[in-house]
Formats: sequence, structure tokens, C-alpha cells
Amino acid sequence: MKINAKNLLACVVVSTALFSCQKENKTPSTTTSGISSEVISQIQAQGFSTDGIIKVDGGYVVENDIFLSTEGLTKAMSVGPELRVPDEEQYHTTNLITALPRTITIAVTGLDAIWTAATDSAVARYNALNLRLKLQRVASGAAITVTGADLGGGGVLGQSSGFPDINGNPPNKITINSRPGTFGTNPSVQWLATIIAHEVGHTIGFRHTDYANRNYSCGFSFPRNEGDGGVGAIWIPKTPKGPKDPGSWMLACTDGTNRPFNPNDITALRYLYK
Ligand SMILES: [Zn+2]
Repeated sequence: MKINAKNLLACVVVSTALFSCQKENKTPSTTTSGISSEVISQIQAQGFSTDGIIKVDGGYVVENDIFLSTEGLTKAMSVGPELRVPDEEQYHTTNLITALPRTITIAVTGLDAIWTAATDSAVARYNALNLRLKLQRVASGAAITVTGADLGGGGVLGQSSGFPDINGNPPNKITINSRPGTFGTNPSVQWLATIIAHEVGHTIGFRHTDYANRNYSCGFSFPRNEGDGGVGAIWIPKTPKGPKDPGSWMLACTDGTNRPFNPNDITALRYLYK
């Protein structure tokens, strides 16, 4: 998940000292430098944007918050059968969490206490929907660990380590940008809960609501369209086809506010996991 560029612009204009205001000035392609042309072609072959690739431990981050492991890059990934030309709607990956009903555990390590509170709130949001997929925060040994790492100053707030695998299990990590100043000096717990809920959304198979037109939430984003991404983008029935979906928790960029599940989000979550 990334911070909205429009918001960044706005906070520069009013000269406030908000997080990462001045950090969005560089062109998106700068972080691609230093990545080998072989890796760039592999990322391209999987349908991801090659702009702004970030090298991280064990792989690469593309499109701001999607982790591709070095190993996974060399393998062909399955592609969803129902790829369609979308607008701002709800989309899921080909692989979903299986073996329902099921409780997925989540732990927070190496982060400020506020992230534990934020994770508890995110867990409560999901569990309030009474889905067959439940979340539970544990101290350690979890299926998904929320941890911190320096994800750079480009406005990236967090990332999931991908999407459900072919066996129906979630990726094992969510990384929060631990670079000082990323979230300002006094972030709201509910905003951070929204970020956790968003990254958890990826781990259970949600694409960005506006994956086909990131400009909708990001203001400016290059590229605009994330494409199939090698993981599929399957429309979730009963979520809106035409109208925009303001406030969805799975929009690509945050506006810095709390985004509890809106009615379409709930429809989508229930469709997949009720
Ligand atoms: Zn995201």
C-alpha cells in the first residue's frame, strides 16, 4: 500500500511537515536502476510493471507492495481464467485460502506497540463479519508475521509477501515500512489498522480494487494498470461494475484516513469466505 500522491502534493502546498511530503518528487523509474535486465524481463513476463522495482531480501517489490520472490520469478505462475477489462471493482487472485473453516494466526514482531493495537483492530474487523476464515493474533509462531523493514522513502507503507499459494495457504509475512517518519509522528491507530487490514487482504487473495486504474486512489501512478500480474484478477460477483468504489480498503493508495470495510468490501469478503 502506498500513500496517495495527491495528498503528498496537497501537504506540500500547505507546508505542513507531514510524512513523506517531499519524498515523491523523484521519477518512479529511479528505483529500477541497479536491477539486472534479466530480472526486469522476468518481472515483465509475469505481467508486472517494471517501473520502480525495489530489491529486497529474497526478491523484489513491484507495484509498490507486491513481493516477488527470486525463486518465484523463474517459475511460470497460473493465470486466472476470467480476466476481463475492469473498472474499480473487487478482484481476487486465482488462488484463495482453502481448507475452510480456518483460523489464520498473525503475530507482530519488532514494531512499535501501536502496530499491535492496529493489528488487533484489523483482526476484529475481519472477525466481525463472521466469515469461515478467521484471524487470531498470537505472540509468536504465527502463519503470518507482521514485521518491519526499511522499504525506502518512496511512499510505500507496507507490503504483503504475495498472495495465497497454490495450496491455499497465505504468504508468511507482511512488512511495514520502518523508515523513520513514514507514518508521521502521531499516526491514528485506525489508519494503521486499515493498512494492516489491506495487507491481510492481499494475503487472502484480494487484488487492489482499482488495480486497473491506480490513478483512482493514487492520483498519479505509473503505470496506471497493474494488469493480471501473473496471479489472476477475477471479478467478485455483486461488487459494482461501473461506479467507483470510494473508501474501499483494497484501493491501491491510502489517503491517510481510516477505511473500515464499506458495503462492497463486505460483499466481496462474504462472497469469498462466508
Ligand atoms: Zn496493496
